[in-house]
Formats: sequence, structure tokens, C-alpha cells
Amino acid sequence: MRILIFGPNGSGKGTQSALLVNRFQVAHIESGAIFRDHAKRGTELGKEAKTYTDRGALVPDSITIPMILDRLNAADCAKGWILDGFPRNPSQAIALLDGLSKAGTPLDAVVEIQVDREIAKARLLGRRTCPAGHPNNLAIPGIQPVGEHEPYFCWKCGAELIGRSDDMDENAIDIRLNIYFDAENGTLAAVQRVHDWCKKSNTTYVTLDGSAKIDQVQAELCQGLGLT
Ligand code: ADP
Repeated sequence: MRILIFGPNGSGKGTQSALLVNRFQVAHIESGAIFRDHAKRGTELGKEAKTYTDRGALVPDSITIPMILDRLNAADCAKGWILDGFPRNPSQAIALLDGLSKAGTPLDAVVEIQVDREIAKARLLGRRTCPAGHPNNLAIPGIQPVGEHEPYFCWKCGAELIGRSDDMDENAIDIRLNIYFDAENGTLAAVQRVHDWCKKSNTTYVTLDGSAKIDQVQAELCQGLGLT
């Protein structure tokens, strides 16, 4: 199963991807997480990427495109993957569709989570990270952390939560959302290209309302993908 998932920053695509990955035991390829992992390990790539991620800018295509295409060739991707956070502009979309077509491993389905910019922004400001990976968000009922002020604690395991550096900066959030909602050169332009490809190749394309509750979005996602 090879699934591409689109959605504005804060739409819940990471959460939905994680649920699918868990259920189907496929690899979760999340471009932002790969950059954060490099930054944490202090690699050259990580140091360079952080100069972009911290201000909400895209890491240059010359770094991102080969990194993702290589990652999709790794052994753990052989039985499938969920790709989350890539492509984010038209050149990345073209590179992905071409790369997959050359490899003979086309997309099986594409999911687009739609939410308003205002909701997305509130969720980014409210997002807190649990060291164990449990989703926590001050703006989402059901996964609200415990506490009245910083530091908050995980609703599930009680661990102390931290905020991502790019989520703590409102200016960086606005830049990320501008990139997503740019229908000419940004992610919505990539969405359009991939949507056109799906129509041409008769590939499943599922559109979801990301403002609904997590379980409901998940149920609609499974229904759209024809899974029970
Ligand atoms: P969010 O979706 O909340 O913005 P991500 O974890 O997906 O968070 O991405 C964090 C950052 O990593 C982005 O703001 C950007 O700097 C970088 N990044 C992630 N994916 C890409 C991509 N496809 N192309 C370029 N930069 C990317």
C-alpha cells in the first residue's frame, strides 16, 4: 500500500498517518520528522535544514527531493508506505510522480485533509509534543494536555510536553500556512497536479473534512480507502 497524504500544517495528517501506519504496519515517511531527526543528531543535513525549518521556509528541493526519493527505496518501504509532508510544491510533485513511475511503484491512493487556515493555525499554536509520541493539542478536544499553563503534561502518559521550535513562533506558522495555501507555487499547486494525475490514472482520491473529530476523520478515511 502506497498512500500520499496532503493537509495543511496542523490538519491532523500526522495523526491520521500514524493511525494508518499502526494498523497496516507500513513505513511512515514524514519529511519534517526526517529533518528533525537529523537536527537532533547534529548532522550537516540537520544543521542546514534547521536554518529553514525554524523560520517556516521550505528546505531547498535540491536537498529534499533526493532525500525523499532515496528514503522510499529503503528496504522497510518494500511492503508499502504512507508519505506525509512531501510534495509541498509543484517541482516536488513532478519529481515524485516521475520517480514512482520509473520505479514501477505508483501511488495506490491519495488523501487530502481539508481545514480552514484559522483552524490550522490554532492547532499549530496548541500542539505540544510528548516524548512517547502521543498526540497532544490544546485546541483539539479529546487530546488536550493536562495543566493550566506551561509545562503541560501528556493526557495519555503524564510525561512533560514540549513545543516544537517552529510551532512557538507565530511568524513561522504564518509562513508555513502561506506556503500550503499558495495555489500557484505552493502545496495547493502540488495537490492539483497529483489530483490531475489521479484522475488520469484512475487512482483513488479521498477528500476529508479535517475539522471533524479524530475518530470520525479516521472512519471516513478507512471508508474512502475501501478498508473495513
Ligand atoms: P508542519 O506540517 O506542521 O509544517 P512538518 O513536520 O511537516 O510540519 O515540517 C516541518 C518543516 O520541515 C517545514 O516547515 C519545512 O521547513 C520542512 N519540510 C518538511 N517537508 C518539506 C518538504 N516537502 N519540502 C521542503 N521542506 C520541508
